[in-house]
Amino acid sequence: MITVAKFGGSSLANAKQFRKVKEIVEADTNRSVIVVSAPGKRRAKDNKITDLFYLLHAHITYGVDHDHVFDLIESRFFGIADELGLEFDLKQAFRHYREEIQNVSLDELVSRGEYLTARLLAEFIGYVFVDAKDVICFQYNSEVDWSETKKRLLDVCAKHKNIVIPGFYGSYPNGSIHIMPRGGSDLTGSIVAKALKAKRYENWTDVSGIMKADPKIVNHPDKIKEITYHELRELSYMGANVLHEEAIRAIQDANIPIHMLNTNAMDEEGTLIRKTCENGSSIITGIAGKKGFTVLTVTKSNAAAKRSVIEHVLKVFSKFRVNIEHIPSSIDAFSVIVVSKDIEPVFFDLMSEIHRIEDVTDVTFEKDMALISVVGRNMSTKPGIAGKLFSAIGDKGININMIAQSSQEINIVVGVKNQDLERTIRTIYDAF
Ligand code: ASP
Repeated sequence: MITVAKFGGSSLANAKQFRKVKEIVEADTNRSVIVVSAPGKRRAKDNKITDLFYLLHAHITYGVDHDHVFDLIESRFFGIADELGLEFDLKQAFRHYREEIQNVSLDELVSRGEYLTARLLAEFIGYVFVDAKDVICFQYNSEVDWSETKKRLLDVCAKHKNIVIPGFYGSYPNGSIHIMPRGGSDLTGSIVAKALKAKRYENWTDVSGIMKADPKIVNHPDKIKEITYHELRELSYMGANVLHEEAIRAIQDANIPIHMLNTNAMDEEGTLIRKTCENGSSIITGIAGKKGFTVLTVTKSNAAAKRSVIEHVLKVFSKFRVNIEHIPSSIDAFSVIVVSKDIEPVFFDLMSEIHRIEDVTDVTFEKDMALISVVGRNMSTKPGIAGKLFSAIGDKGININMIAQSSQEINIVVGVKNQDLERTIRTIYDAF
């Protein structure tokens, strides 16, 4: 019964956090596969090790003296190793990186944060270190090579019961290191959990699970006890920054439950993410929102077929390679919602092409829009939710510019002005 436990950067930011991780690992013998991020911030104004590695690379690229950045990185690792009395030869490792720095790729350099953390933690908790480059395999198109990854992980686990794997990177078929998008250690955790058919995937951070709304917007929001993969993906897509969206995608078909837990409060319950959840009593599972969208509203002549006009308009978007977020429509008009920064460089050309489409009578646009997604698996079974939502927003004098609902009725998306985002989220949270 394998549990994969992934510890984020704040859980490994210093020696004190390493000790907490050890206590957590030792509290449950099923926690046999550990995935780590690089040390994160120890306090608000601190630096993440990964950011320092990127900075180091920029110094090297532009030929700027980089010794002081190296020193900063080194001192963080030495601080941890010295305080914990670890023997791993950091001196030799850093001497090597300093000498070889000109020959090391960006991916390899940046991956050293996770690599060294895994080395230190493995020694500290008495687990075997397994390099991610030997077990997490990518194809040259950066897709995970599942069969190779599975084979290698199973081989390693047949030899060693307890292992530590660095997150965030793997390797291409030729052995060169490939890093994932930022926050990618979550994805490593998912890949490992899926490949090993783990019983559970624990994701340890510095908060006790996922909140119903961003605590920077809503004061002390309630915690979500259980959420489906699908609901969480909707929230993550709209900016809820809890778990890498790709990490959920990678694991959801394997149906392995993910537990979001807090390294600083190991006994707290956290949030459970799985395929299906109890219905529970609350109508809304969570609310998330993002600024920076543009809405283009296209009006067609009464006689024209809507399908064909939409088809023409969408072709223009695809020609300019602008992704579409939503297309709410009425009888003679429909809106196309896009991310503002995607459309800005081609805005005028795209608008004039749409104007030229036969049967388009008008195109208007609204920049500076925010989208808010109200997510809840229980919404579809309870009538009157949309009405309650809109009247709560209307009562506060906030103008709704757009409404969309997903096909499975798992979420309602409302568009408001950027400046109304926070107020709208608070209003919805209070109403439900
Ligand atoms: N250390 C990497 C980052 O900061 C990966 C991770 O933490 O998941 O993005």
